[in-house]
Amino acid sequence: MDLALSGKTALVAAASRGLGKAVALRLAQEGARVVICARDAAAVSDAVSAVSKISEGGPALGLTVDLNKTEDIDRLGGELNDQTAGVDILINNAGGPPPGLFGALDDNKWQAAFDLTLMSAVRLTRLVLPHMRSRQWGRIVNVTSYTVKQPVQQMMLSNSIRLGVVGWAKTLATELAPAGILVNNVCPGWTSTDRVTQLINARAEAAGHDPEEIEKEIVAEIPLGRMGRVDEFADVVAFLASERSSYVTGVTIPIDGGIVQYAL
Ligand code: NAD
Repeated sequence: MDLALSGKTALVAAASRGLGKAVALRLAQEGARVVICARDAAAVSDAVSAVSKISEGGPALGLTVDLNKTEDIDRLGGELNDQTAGVDILINNAGGPPPGLFGALDDNKWQAAFDLTLMSAVRLTRLVLPHMRSRQWGRIVNVTSYTVKQPVQQMMLSNSIRLGVVGWAKTLATELAPAGILVNNVCPGWTSTDRVTQLINARAEAAGHDPEEIEKEIVAEIPLGRMGRVDEFADVVAFLASERSSYVTGVTIPIDGGIVQYAL
């Protein structure tokens, strides 16, 4: 299947490692010009080198941004205007909100999670919409979590605020459909990345168990019997980011090895 990504520019947020980096690699392999952004300049630079090495769409561009900060996102907008001809594909991704029970979460933690998880997607989308509208073509893919389908214990912030992303995206998909801009969500299940290692370690510490035991318990709930790989996740996102997804908008797709136990 030809994804027809050559000539397109893709901004992949939070792409210095993990799911975002895997998506950046896949889009570049398929011919897109990729712009990577994340907080840490050295990590961004490493990711840019890795992506540029395999890119069929020209060297990647790296920009630093703290997605929690409005002023950083505004600056990013200026840099994108100066250094690209406009973003055709936006992958809204960010670090995950910290785990925690209700009693441990004060207003500051809720506000930070709201800014990082919902408002970063809103603000990045504002940056790219004028160009997408002018081209009457665009793809916006939001990385959420399977917690939007099935809440996970101790993931209070993720369980709550990611549903805001889903409601926002569904509303936006309808609003932008006449402009040829498609908006969809993907919901990773357990996929091996640094974030998952941290979550497993936190659960192990809280339960006084070994991380290996915790991982076994998690995998026992996954029908495919293993955690996902980042490249499996990136393949689905690349499809949604491509010309080939032209009749798909407003959907929320789990990529989760079957862990979500609802028929719809
Ligand atoms: P990760 O921790 O491996 O990578 C996160 C990336 O986000 C890094 O590049 C990091 O630099 C960047 N980042 C974090 N905070 C940032 C900020 N304030 N500004 C800019 N960049 C920032 O995480 P991951 O596993 O790749 O997960 C990506 C997203 O998917 C997270 O929101 C996570 O909660 C969600 N998710 C992951 C899984 C999984 O199994 N991996 C499952 C469900 C949901």
